[in-house]
Amino acid sequence: MRLQCSEPCGVDPSLLREDRVCVACGAPVELEAERPAASAEDLRELWRRRRASLAPADCSGVWRFRELLPPITPALDEVVTLGEGNTPVLRGGATARYAGLADLRIKHLGWNPTGSFKDTGMTVAVTRAAVRGASIVACASTGNTAASMAAYAARAGLTARVYLPRSVAAAKVAQAEAYGAELVRVGGSFDDALVGMLGKADPSTYVLNSLNPFRVAGQKTFLVELMEQLGWQVPDVIVLPGGNLGNLSACGAALDDLMALGLIDRLPRMAVVQAEGANPFVRMWRSGAERLSPLADPRTIASAIRIGAPVSWRRAARTLRATAGTALDVGDGAIAEARRVIGHDGIGCELGSAAALAGARALRQAGWIDEHERVVCLLTGHLLKEPGTGDSDAAESAVDARVGVETGC
Ligand SMILES: [Zn+2]
Repeated sequence: MRLQCSEPCGVDPSLLREDRVCVACGAPVELEAERPAASAEDLRELWRRRRASLAPADCSGVWRFRELLPPITPALDEVVTLGEGNTPVLRGGATARYAGLADLRIKHLGWNPTGSFKDTGMTVAVTRAAVRGASIVACASTGNTAASMAAYAARAGLTARVYLPRSVAAAKVAQAEAYGAELVRVGGSFDDALVGMLGKADPSTYVLNSLNPFRVAGQKTFLVELMEQLGWQVPDVIVLPGGNLGNLSACGAALDDLMALGLIDRLPRMAVVQAEGANPFVRMWRSGAERLSPLADPRTIASAIRIGAPVSWRRAARTLRATAGTALDVGDGAIAEARRVIGHDGIGCELGSAAALAGARALRQAGWIDEHERVVCLLTGHLLKEPGTGDSDAAESAVDARVGVETGC
């Protein structure tokens, strides 16, 4: 298991830390790919057989695909799991009509144990932290990462420390508290919280933000599970919401693995959707700029994607280029409307997730997606994460009263 910088910056790998960005260029650190020697057919059969197993690691929709995970521990009873993954692929008449598509499916990653896709990466990264002997794990979070980290840390007997930006959804903070996390209010935006945390985290603290390569490794499995659920028939387009872009990066890593192992024979076009008021990646993509220019004050009703300086933009851009994909933004009105439509199919999701459906509709209207192409929208968070409409600050300001520590940085 060797670390490398995700960019060809020439850094000496011995200087890299797995829970920090590259010391030379600031890009995320990644694990050198190690792939199993088994054939595609043997892997499919092995993963299928495990579905009948009662062992906790096999019941996890992440660890069931452990041949694609870094070799963290040979002892499967050390795996920190809550039975994550195993999320359904659903069809809905209202959503398909709304998008103008004949074959639109939804993979709802919000139906993970803590209600967001973050669990698929956190089970791997917290297992890694525990095996390394960490006592404290930390993250900066708009909410979903905090709740996920807190749950898995509790399960592993680790202290969870969450650095909160100014504005987060109250339900998500309540969730992290319920799992016993320590809350540290940093103030400012998510990006300020991230910088604040990295400044404060001492070397004994294991950092679990989306730059952590073990989180990316675990998140790869949701795309593998999707392909298995589609009978290994690759959809034409996969649309997902974009905040910190860790999910798109994980999709890119998964597609690399799936192609290299012969598990799929072509790539889907990936489309990532940001909110208009929090669209730094879309701006970069549209302008053809070499680097991402952070957005100082990102604004959208969708708290999960209210991020102005996404960490994983390089890998995300590579994934879009490799898949002939695209990036687009949608307004808050379109996000709220799409969320209502998803509700009409009895599915529901948090506001940020609905950006995927709003984006699919916009891409169909623009002719980027053909009516008869097979499309999958990835929804990343559960409806109960943000049950309100997002047009009131009351739920967010209620959090302020409960957070004990004010660091003011
Ligand atoms: Zn580097």
